[in-house]
Amino acid sequence: MEYLSVSEAQRVVLESVATLGAEQVKLEQSLGRVLAEEVRANRDQPPYDISAMDGYALRSADLGAIPATLQIIEDIKAGDMPTKTLASGQCARIMTGAPMPQGADAVIRVEDTQTIDSGFPHPNPLGETTSHSTRLQTTAAKSLVTPEGEGANVSPRENLFNLVQINLSVKPGHDIRRLGENMRNGEVVLTPGTEITPGVIGVLATVKRAEVQVYRRPRVAILSTGNELEGLDEPVDPNKIPNSNSYALMAQAQALGIEPVLLGIARDDPDELARYLQRGLEYDVLLVSGGTSVGVHDYVRPTIEALGAQMLFWRVSMKPGHPVAFGKAGEKIIFGLPGNPVSSMVCFEQFVVPALRRMMGHARTYRRTIAARMTHNVKHQPGRTEFIRVMLAQEEGGYAATSTGAQGSGMLLSMARADGLAVLPAECNGLAAGSMVTVQLLDGTVFQEDAGFKE
Ligand code: AMP
Ligand code: MG
Repeated sequence: MEYLSVSEAQRVVLESVATLGAEQVKLEQSLGRVLAEEVRANRDQPPYDISAMDGYALRSADLGAIPATLQIIEDIKAGDMPTKTLASGQCARIMTGAPMPQGADAVIRVEDTQTIDSGFPHPNPLGETTSHSTRLQTTAAKSLVTPEGEGANVSPRENLFNLVQINLSVKPGHDIRRLGENMRNGEVVLTPGTEITPGVIGVLATVKRAEVQVYRRPRVAILSTGNELEGLDEPVDPNKIPNSNSYALMAQAQALGIEPVLLGIARDDPDELARYLQRGLEYDVLLVSGGTSVGVHDYVRPTIEALGAQMLFWRVSMKPGHPVAFGKAGEKIIFGLPGNPVSSMVCFEQFVVPALRRMMGHARTYRRTIAARMTHNVKHQPGRTEFIRVMLAQEEGGYAATSTGAQGSGMLLSMARADGLAVLPAECNGLAAGSMVTVQLLDGTVFQEDAGFKE
């Protein structure tokens, strides 16, 4: 029987699966999904020039000599619209996010100013402490108190009391967020295929999308097969093997944002198996654990083919996990995963992860790989691509990878301990301590476009 390499098998899988259709979901439910539509800005953001700081909106040309004393003619809070136009020598107290008044071309942070205590009790909207205040002494300040002329649009009382000393000179545009600098009305801000991260959710809320079109998630069924298997809800029988695969596979799917359906355990009996497989083929994806090998009681192959499935491969040149199968029945896809618990999980990572992510519309379908330094020698017989469970530790300049210990394909504790799978290319003769190896990370939500390893 023909063995495919891991990458050939991955290519067969990805060529056989298509992105599913779209559905509408609430914004609150969209995290981790993939956008199925183009999203445009529905207005200019910000809608006008706004202040980036709490401080004073002013005319930068007034700051020729520092310190400069300006007259505060208005107090603009976020949500207010300015009502006055600044003349020379005037400023407006302004809060972050508030619109810039006419006539102003810069903002000075409150930290770079001092209020001036004119000696009279007066309201202080910013609530600055008197320790930040200086007494009105300068004739320059007094000269600003002009009930007529440029200050004529404020009352004499405001003229007298609302003065501020500016301690910094700035250029026009300082600390202003410009109209439309975040997004322009009608501009495409998100394209189909974008994974919805918290940042994307923020953008969607900005453009008022309470609902979005995302690609559908596949409906996944998981079936375990084997007379020896004991269900999680069954009493412990020393002669049986606990069904761990259904649950480990379930969790691997859940980690991708999919809630699979567990079909239970089918006995090694062609009729019973056919009934279970038929039910499984109602789903977009059927994962069958066990029974894909060549033992006389491995009925999965003849039974699934009798149900009309077209199997595209049965063997991949990898360790652990070579009895791994893949096929299609119409639009439905079927994975035959090895019964050995580690093999089943490793095969899920190599073949099922990219398939499920492709169906959900992701461009990055593969788990992230990193380079790591092996802390010890690793034996390897040339022939098959080998995945070694490793723990990772950060070290200067990168990561150190250490085997989780014995690597038998039934030793599930090795998967429980592993941070990643170190990939030994098929033709490699083993690794010496200190050599670099590619490690496929098992956790995390970051994926990449290519498998990222040579085999
Ligand atoms: P098979 O692929 O059916 O030949 O099974 C290979 C090995 O994996 C056997 O030792 C099985 O007992 C074991 N096995 C099969 N299915 C499961 C399962 N669902 N959970 C745990 N072990 C399993
Ligand atoms: Mg079996």
